[in-house]
Amino acid sequence: MELKNKSLFKQECFIGGKWVKSLNNDTIQVDNPATLKSIGNVPKCGKEETKNAIEAANDAFLNWKNKTAKERSIILKQWQDLIIKNVDDLAHIMTVEQGKPLAESKGEILMGASYIEFYAEEVKRVYGDIIPDPLPDRRIVVIKQPVGVVGAITPWNFPSTMITRKCAPALGVGCPVVIKPASQTPFSALALAVLAEEAGFPPGVFNVLTGSASEIGKELTENPIVKKISFTGSTEVGKILLKQSASTVKKVSMELGGHAPFIVFEDANIDEAVSGAIMSKFRNSGQTCICANRLFVHEKVYEEFLEKFVKKVAEIKVGNGLEESTNSGPLIDQYSLEKVKDHVQDAVKTGAKIAIGGDIHKLGGNFYQPTVLSNVTNKAKITYEETFGPVAPIYKFSSDEEVINLANDTPYGLASYFYARDIGKIWKVAEALEYGIVSVNTGLPTKAEIPFGGVKESGLGREGSKYGLDDYLEIKYLSLIHISEPTR
Ligand code: ADP
Repeated sequence: MELKNKSLFKQECFIGGKWVKSLNNDTIQVDNPATLKSIGNVPKCGKEETKNAIEAANDAFLNWKNKTAKERSIILKQWQDLIIKNVDDLAHIMTVEQGKPLAESKGEILMGASYIEFYAEEVKRVYGDIIPDPLPDRRIVVIKQPVGVVGAITPWNFPSTMITRKCAPALGVGCPVVIKPASQTPFSALALAVLAEEAGFPPGVFNVLTGSASEIGKELTENPIVKKISFTGSTEVGKILLKQSASTVKKVSMELGGHAPFIVFEDANIDEAVSGAIMSKFRNSGQTCICANRLFVHEKVYEEFLEKFVKKVAEIKVGNGLEESTNSGPLIDQYSLEKVKDHVQDAVKTGAKIAIGGDIHKLGGNFYQPTVLSNVTNKAKITYEETFGPVAPIYKFSSDEEVINLANDTPYGLASYFYARDIGKIWKVAEALEYGIVSVNTGLPTKAEIPFGGVKESGLGREGSKYGLDDYLEIKYLSLIHISEPTR
C-alpha cells in the first residue's frame, strides 16, 4: 500500500495498549473488493482474546473515569487532529479495503473526525439535576456517571465513522471501549487505534479486536464486565446480539437495517429531487443503511423525474475507487452482488422495466451497473427487502394518504426522504412518517450534530448530538436528608 505514514497499516490487534497476534496465530485474509486481490491479514481472535481485552478495559476504567472531562477532551482532540493530519493515508486504506471512491473515503474520515470534535466539546457539559423535594428536609440530586466497559461492533460500509461515532461519546464520558470491526474492513479500525495510541489514551482504554464475529460477539454480550453494547449492522445480527445481551441485562444501542422511502410530491423542485435521489441512492454504491430504497414519485411529475434521473445515473462513472474519475466503486463482495442481481431479476419478472443498467458491470468482479427500475410492483422482493446496492426502484403514486401508507408499510424505520414545497404538506407528511430520520428537501441528512437512529426494527437509541451521550451514561439519584442540628 502506498502510504506516507506506513505505521498506519497494522496487521495486529490492539489490546491493553499492546499490538498482539491471536493466541493461536490464526489469521483472516482481507481482499480488495475492486481487484479481488489480498491486501493483508489480521489476527483471527476468539473468546479468550476478547476476555483479555475486556479485562484490560476494566483495569483501565477507574483511572479513565476519574480523569476530568477536560483531560479526556484534550486526548480526544489530539486523536481528532491526528486523524485529520493523516486523512490521505486513512482514505487510501479505506478505499483499498472497502472500495468507495477516494473522495468519499476522505469525506468519511473527516465526518468521523467531526464526531470526535463534537464530543470533545459536549462531554464537558454532562450536567446533572437538582429536583425540588416534596418533603422539607430532603434534597434530590441527579448525577450522571459512565456505564463502564463498552463493546462496539461495527460494519464495513463506514469503517471509520461507525467507530468514532460510538467511541467519541463513550471515551469522552469515561468508558473504555473494546471494538470489533467488520472482517472486510479491519485496517481502517487498526489505523484509528495507531492514532489513538499516539493521541495518549492510556493502555486498555481503546482496544481493537479482529476475528470471529460470532465468538467475539458472544463474549462481548455475555461477559458481565461489559456494561453496554453498541452495534451497527443488520437487523438479523442485531436480534442475535439483543438476545445474547439479555443474559446480563446490558444497555444496548442498535443501529440496524433500513428501507428508506424517497417521496417526490407534485409540487417538488424536480431538479433538486433528482440530485437528492442520486446522493441518497448511489453514495457508497447504494451500501448505506439510509440509502433511498423505494422512490415514490407523484404521477403528475413521474415522467419528468424519471427522464432527468436516468440522465444523471448515466453520468455515474463506475470503477476502482483509487482512480480519480471514479464516483462509484464495487460492491463489498460476491454475496452482495448476488443479492443485487436477484432483486433486479425478480423485479423484472414481476413487471418492472429496466430504465438503465440492470446487469453486472463489464469490469466484472464485484461491480454492478447503476440501475433504475420503473413500474416496479408491490409483488417484487425489492419492495420489501433492503437491497444494499446501486438499484433505484421507482413507484408511481397519486395521493398523499396512499404514499404515506406505502412508505410506512415496512418493519424498518430508519431514514425517510421527501421533496415538497407546501408547508402544510411538509408538516403533515413529516409527522406521519414512522421513521427516526425524516429528511425534507435534502438527500444527505447525516452530521455529528443530529440524533441518528431508527424506530421499529431499525434499532434502539441514538448516535450523534447531545442525545448520543445518554447511551453511555447511567443516571444516579442521590436522596439526601438534610439534618441541620448535630445529634449527640
Ligand atoms: P452486514 O450485512 O452489513 O455485513 P452484519 O450485521 O452481518 O451486517 O455485520 C455487522 C457487524 O456484525 C460486523 O462487524 C460483523 O462481523 C458482525 N457480526 C456478524 N455476525 C455476528 C454475530 N453472530 N455476532 C456478533 N457480531 C456479528
